[in-house]
Amino acid sequence: MAFSDFSLTVLGSRGSMAVGGEQCASYGGDSSCYMVRAGEETVFLDAGTGICAAPSDYPKDPVVLLTHLHLDHIVGLGMFPALSNRQLRVKVYVPFCRTREEAEESLGRIYAPPFWPVRLTEYASSPELLPLPDHFTLGALQIDAIPGNHPGGCMVFRLRHEGKSIVYVTDYEYEESSFERLVRFAEGADLLLFDAQYADTELPAKHGYGHASAGQGIELMERSDAKRLLLIHHDPRSFDRVLAQRETLLTHKKVEYARTGQRIVL
Ligand SMILES: [Zn+2]
Ligand SMILES: [Zn+2]
Repeated sequence: MAFSDFSLTVLGSRGSMAVGGEQCASYGGDSSCYMVRAGEETVFLDAGTGICAAPSDYPKDPVVLLTHLHLDHIVGLGMFPALSNRQLRVKVYVPFCRTREEAEESLGRIYAPPFWPVRLTEYASSPELLPLPDHFTLGALQIDAIPGNHPGGCMVFRLRHEGKSIVYVTDYEYEESSFERLVRFAEGADLLLFDAQYADTELPAKHGYGHASAGQGIELMERSDAKRLLLIHHDPRSFDRVLAQRETLLTHKKVEYARTGQRIVL
């Protein structure tokens, strides 16, 4: 591995609920998780079921950034292989809390009996659960977080490394002032990930559900001058046939629907 690389691998891009079977063999059925490698740093954006298939080689202790605590974004954490590796010390950054105690309490509502057999802090890697700062650095990687617009809240991340950047906008519903903030936040991004759970035509019927469409992602890409757009958070009912058909409607060369296993080098 060349440690100067900056890359993103899709481990799961299904939204709301993981799905399985041949009908999603092409785009994948695992829920939200993206692995970013930046030099020696490894960062997981969300911990849906996709994180269960995370690799085991880490030059440095891996970090998990959670955008929010909806189940499709945390349900894989209990089976994240690194948590059971005592050679590693995993850090999990938890949004909407101010202290370690609040971070532990937050995830401990699900990761504790009777919902799960053990608490996350009892795993072999003794993971640290920490409040998510608005801005922090991991080696040469800079991370910024701002709120998006989603029921209960959801954070948007920008990761910068050696002049390149990735912006991760999942679980976002259009609303004018937050969209203007996103346009500025995503300015010049090399790779933009954007919630396209619904077709543009479905949006009126899905008002208040907290998700967006490909058309809104393209608008954000164009207005922020982002270079490439990966559409994510596929609806559990949008199987391969639906996504492939939607993809044929995309006229922009640099726009595509994410597929599990896909790796983008920046
Ligand atoms: Zn979600
Ligand atoms: Zn959500």
